Amino acid sequence: MDRKVFALYTYMRVLLTALTAAVLLMSCDSNTKYSDKTESFTFVQMCDTQLGFSDYEKDKASFRQAVRQINELNPDFVVICGDLVHTANDKSFSDFKEIISSFQMPCYYVPGNHDIGNKPTPESLQYYRKMLGEYYFVFEHKGTTFICVNTQLWKEPVQDESEKQDRWLKERLKIASGKGQQIFIVGHYPLFCREADEPEEYMNLPLEKRRELLRLFDQYNVVAVLNGHTHTLILNRYKNIQMVNAETTSKNFDKRPLGFRMWYATEEGLPRHDFVPLDRPDP
Ligand SMILES: [Zn+2]
Repeated sequence: MDRKVFALYTYMRVLLTALTAAVLLMSCDSNTKYSDKTESFTFVQMCDTQLGFSDYEKDKASFRQAVRQINELNPDFVVICGDLVHTANDKSFSDFKEIISSFQMPCYYVPGNHDIGNKPTPESLQYYRKMLGEYYFVFEHKGTTFICVNTQLWKEPVQDESEKQDRWLKERLKIASGKGQQIFIVGHYPLFCREADEPEEYMNLPLEKRRELLRLFDQYNVVAVLNGHTHTLILNRYKNIQMVNAETTSKNFDKRPLGFRMWYATEEGLPRHDFVPLDRPDP
């Protein structure tokens, strides 16, 4: 082999090795690399604004304070994980709507048991829809999908309604996954509080439904499930899924300060979150 041919041969081998390494690196990264349209952004998770749970006027004042601080922090949007009010009626729902109208960014919210009843009925669902809008929906933001669910339809199934939401959920997961998007789930009831197979109680979802949902969320690489309801900070992980029950602005049972969580979603890798306490303690 003359020198020129040998140099060409060496060059080709180096190129081939580099190409192989690049392909390997790309395949190793495939679990966390999303669609090229995915961008970094921030959003806020609020839980259990529950106007009237501790003291109606105090809960309203704390909620307003949170809105002021969130406007200053200027995230892309806010999600509220249910129990928007303590007792659902025209006044509480109108006050809730009036307070969120001060947000300078979109605010998305889902119902909790206090908004549609521990055992929701077609009437309570219709009343919520009339006053506050859809109780499950999806939105996309910068290449990420947020699936906002009505967990009450899993806790206490309502004929036809629960099946309809389940069909919709599977469809939305499939669509988001097909687009290579990262997926967040926003709801009220946590799937579990301590362990994935713990028995059902007031604070979690029925075991059979929970197993079905965990399988589904894992299958579609959901990155995080955001919930409220427990009034305590609970951070769990199920496989690659972060499960976060955050602080409320009404009352916390674990002596955590009132506040909310700021989330940082990134183009690749796992999203993270920080607690932001309310600046002014309740009077
Ligand atoms: Zn609740």
